[in-house]
Amino acid sequence: MRRDRVAEDIFVFVSDLHAQVTCTVLLTGDGALVVDSLAFPSEAREVKAFIEEQLGPNSVRYLINTHSHADHVYGNSVFASAEVIAHDTGRQALAGRGEAQLMRARRQLPGLADATLRLPDITFHKEMHLHIGHRHLQLMHTPGHTSDSISVYEVNERVWMAGDLAMPVPQITSGNVEQFRASLEQMRQAEPDFVVQGHGDVLLRGEVSDVVDAHLAYLDIIERRVRSVIKAGKPPRALQAIDIESCGLSRIPLDGAVVRLHLENLIYLYRQMTGL
Ligand SMILES: [Zn+2]
Repeated sequence: MRRDRVAEDIFVFVSDLHAQVTCTVLLTGDGALVVDSLAFPSEAREVKAFIEEQLGPNSVRYLINTHSHADHVYGNSVFASAEVIAHDTGRQALAGRGEAQLMRARRQLPGLADATLRLPDITFHKEMHLHIGHRHLQLMHTPGHTSDSISVYEVNERVWMAGDLAMPVPQITSGNVEQFRASLEQMRQAEPDFVVQGHGDVLLRGEVSDVVDAHLAYLDIIERRVRSVIKAGKPPRALQAIDIESCGLSRIPLDGAVVRLHLENLIYLYRQMTGL
């Protein structure tokens, strides 16, 4: 798995197995904190081994889930020593549908054979602060990708761990576009030096505002384009003519998976706007 160092004792792991999903590790003199636990326990164990090499066994004190989607929580149980933190509604979502979803996923993916559901121990609604070693983390509700999405901001090094609020194409199919816009603006206004995306490469200070602009523009463009398809009385398959590049984003990231995510966004909007 790729490991990038973004600041002193802050590392980002990028999955080889699932859509470049990320996991961030903060090492402190008082134990480690992990943000998101990856899709597969085998990769979560790689992260844990790295931490334990540095700080010894059972040194992970906190694990934060940026939202309740499978690819960010299925490694949770690997970090047995950690207290798990998430948004109130993230815990509710996992407690409600998590077990059944994991059972279904297991039947399709052998890599999940030893995954077990681990629910958050600590939840919050709007904002909370966490102090561990010399690190001060601000956890904020930043909905849009999902209603339970949160961001984690390391205040001193200005590292914003965005979960899927930031990824190479905004994914709106289980969220809310208005909230997405507001949360992107909130991230920009913090003026972070680094943004750890939920999937893909870390964004650097000089890139953040441009990416936010591109994503806000993308959301406007797809709404406009889908509306005109509907106005022309065309069926959903006409959406396939709206390629991602004509909406201002590249088709290359995440090994091309962004093209599928883009089409799913279009179909989602079409259904929302038509009620079909
Ligand atoms: Zn994700």
